Amino acid sequence: MEKRKRNLETICIQAGWQPENGEPRVLPIYQSTTFKYSTSEQMGRLFDLEEDGYFYTRLANPTNDAVAAKICELEGGCAAMLTSSGQAANYYAVFNICSAGDHIISAATIYGGTSNLFTVTMKKQGIDVTLADPDASEEEIEKLFRPNTKAVFGETIANPALVVLDIEKFARLAHKHGVPLIVDNTFATPINCRPFEWGADIVTHSTTKYMDGHAMAVGGCIVDSGNFDWEAHAEKFPGLTTPDDSYHGIVYTERFGKKAYITKATAQLMRDLGSIPSPMNAFLLNIGLETLHLRVPRHCENAQKVAEWLDAREDVAWVNYPSLPGNPYHALASKYMPNGSCGVISFGLKGGRAAAAGFMDRLKLAAIVTHVADARTCVLHPASHTHRQLSDEKLVEAGVDPSLIRLSVGIENVEDILADLKQALE
Ligand SMILES: *Cc1c(COP(=O)(O)O)cnc(C)c1O
Repeated sequence: MEKRKRNLETICIQAGWQPENGEPRVLPIYQSTTFKYSTSEQMGRLFDLEEDGYFYTRLANPTNDAVAAKICELEGGCAAMLTSSGQAANYYAVFNICSAGDHIISAATIYGGTSNLFTVTMKKQGIDVTLADPDASEEEIEKLFRPNTKAVFGETIANPALVVLDIEKFARLAHKHGVPLIVDNTFATPINCRPFEWGADIVTHSTTKYMDGHAMAVGGCIVDSGNFDWEAHAEKFPGLTTPDDSYHGIVYTERFGKKAYITKATAQLMRDLGSIPSPMNAFLLNIGLETLHLRVPRHCENAQKVAEWLDAREDVAWVNYPSLPGNPYHALASKYMPNGSCGVISFGLKGGRAAAAGFMDRLKLAAIVTHVADARTCVLHPASHTHRQLSDEKLVEAGVDPSLIRLSVGIENVEDILADLKQALE
């Protein structure tokens, strides 16, 4: 992997849009579906992927590309694409290398939406998933691999279970079986953890969360490290290593080398499925990224104080925050994200499910919203909101206690956040 050449703070501000002489300093919003060419011959070469250039925004747009390039550099990757949502990012990341008859292994502790995507929707498309206990031993997880297994998936910090993934363990297992490790790095962000440095091959994001950071634009991103050798496992990945009939027989790995995976995702999946972000949303995401390095440490600092405060209270039954000493994932969090984990805490009240509802209704500063990881403190009860499709059994499997309150600590003054929690508890 190429070494990162500049620091994260500088990348947040400077990467992506690189204006030429006389061009706008600020990333322009190319709010255009289409791009003009002088000759039909030129346009033809673009369609054949023989030349780089924009022709239709579903396939590529300069605003979107600039923002993808910034996230790519933050993660230390070699190519990236934006999608219209985090859901689309995870779907494309897996579907780009799987088809009907294939199988994937995913950590069981993942976001509810991703869990539905894998276990319900992708299952209908003929892709089978096995959910693995992320804390199981390598021997146990190893037993889940099949000849048709094509990828391993996990979240750096699971939403909302806050289980920290042992990235090196999962990467080792995936590579031993000739498949890539895909890591959803939404909660940690590249400010706190860069999964490629620990062996992950592909990183996904719901940029809707900390990257946007202001709850303005739903979006997603896929970044490829360029490290996985598709040709060494060519029989497993025919979509990348044999001719694509829908593109005049191009073989992605031959033509695009390290960019094969992202080129296929763009030229084939985005062409056919079309989940692009609007240039306007990419522009808003870029503004969020410019302060990611300032906001993430503040989220973590506030969350640490709130977690310690909750932990010391009599009416709180339990607190789950990976950066809290005594947390089962403290050691993994210290290893993979030594500067802090995230701003999200989960906890349960001694009064259980009923007490949770009363507490949430009394909050004034913290709003009840279906969102996490933006500047404003907010709160959610997954069992009655995001995860309500899951049975109690499935909830527990996903690491979600039915009494669990998910608190996303914002970047307000922490004393005001604590005062709000206090009045609501009392
Ligand atoms: C929110 C979230 C998603 C889904 O992203 P959307 O942008 O809401 O589609 C996927 N993974 C994780 C970890 C998330 O928190």
